[in-house]
Amino acid sequence: MNAIEKDLLNIVGIGNLLINEQMSCHTTFKIGGPADIFITPTGYRMLGKVFQYVSEHHLPHLVIGKGSNLIVSDKGIRGIVISTYRMNRISYQGNLVKADSGVDLGKLSLSTAKRGLSGMEFASGIPGSVGGAVFMNAGAYEGEISQVLKQSLILIPDSDGGKTKFRFVHLNNSEHDFSYRHSILQDKSYIHLNSVFELTPGSKSKIEQKIDELTKTRHSKQPWGLPSAGSVFKRPEGYYTGKLIQDCGLKGFRIGDAAVSEKHCGFIVNLGKATAGDVKAVIIHVQKTLLDRYGVLLQTEVRFIGEE
Ligand SMILES: Cc1cc2nc3c(=O)[nH]c(=O)nc-3n(C[C@H](O)[C@H](O)[C@H](O)COP(=O)(O)OP(=O)(O)OC[C@H]3O[C@@H](n4cnc5c(N)ncnc54)[C@H](O)[C@@H]3O)c2cc1C
Repeated sequence: MNAIEKDLLNIVGIGNLLINEQMSCHTTFKIGGPADIFITPTGYRMLGKVFQYVSEHHLPHLVIGKGSNLIVSDKGIRGIVISTYRMNRISYQGNLVKADSGVDLGKLSLSTAKRGLSGMEFASGIPGSVGGAVFMNAGAYEGEISQVLKQSLILIPDSDGGKTKFRFVHLNNSEHDFSYRHSILQDKSYIHLNSVFELTPGSKSKIEQKIDELTKTRHSKQPWGLPSAGSVFKRPEGYYTGKLIQDCGLKGFRIGDAAVSEKHCGFIVNLGKATAGDVKAVIIHVQKTLLDRYGVLLQTEVRFIGEE
């Protein structure tokens, strides 16, 4: 172990630090080379200490949730990956629910349903964490994080004469700068710690029924069972991405083991041993084809990380 690994191990403790960890184990695409150091803090204070350390030592670092919107390069990630998945508390106060960054969105949706609280039904099939969902302003079936979020607790870096310090700050809904698949977290180096969602009391059975319906719709229209990162592209205004791609004859278009899904052309799926390179090549081919045919340049919703 080198000195940095030892110092970080002292902060997070045994069991919360892995060296050369394959990111393919932490992405829903099942793609991605090794991260130099992979850390799983169990609480805000521990996370704060990790940030203090990596900032003071100018170490490259990145926070991830469930890795469901990521394409990690085949060479992997130089530096420190901090996964929030062990920060996963949920608590209730009336119709408010507070969820830590690492809470699974599907679990949160089911938990709120059990309490007879409506508003999170849309999130039941999104395989991300609360932090990733706030970062992306995730949404589905007319619902969106921005519609239910009341407040978030954020860790904000402050540079003071070359020394970085961190502050815990509450952001209310309007301070998140939410828009379609965008929040302020994408523009600043803010770390999401938790969010409070304001829900509406409702009939438990109706809420659960809605979740069942949305799950059935998802399973019938999307390629469940094959690794992917969901919709690869953002929806261009006035178009349906999947239909545009299908109309260009790209259904099933394949490079290596990465292919445009037969079931939903907005998804690229990993048919077995796809590499990040394969996925990127498919993305570029789709973008070029749609630009030539329709003059539409598709922007990616998935995020690319790692060494090229
Ligand atoms: C099968 C499938 C279906 C999907 N369906 C939908 C859908 O219907 N709607 C939708 O919107 N998305 C969908 N997605 C995409 C994805 O689930 C969402 O974007 C989700 O919100 C990402 O959350 P995550 O925890 O996986 O984030 P990650 O993929 O781990 O990270 C995404 C980004 O968020 C940042 N981030 C994560 N946590 C934090 C934090 N605590 N602080 C600061 N930054 C952070 C990361 O650095 C990264 O840039 C789908 C994906 C799959 C695989």
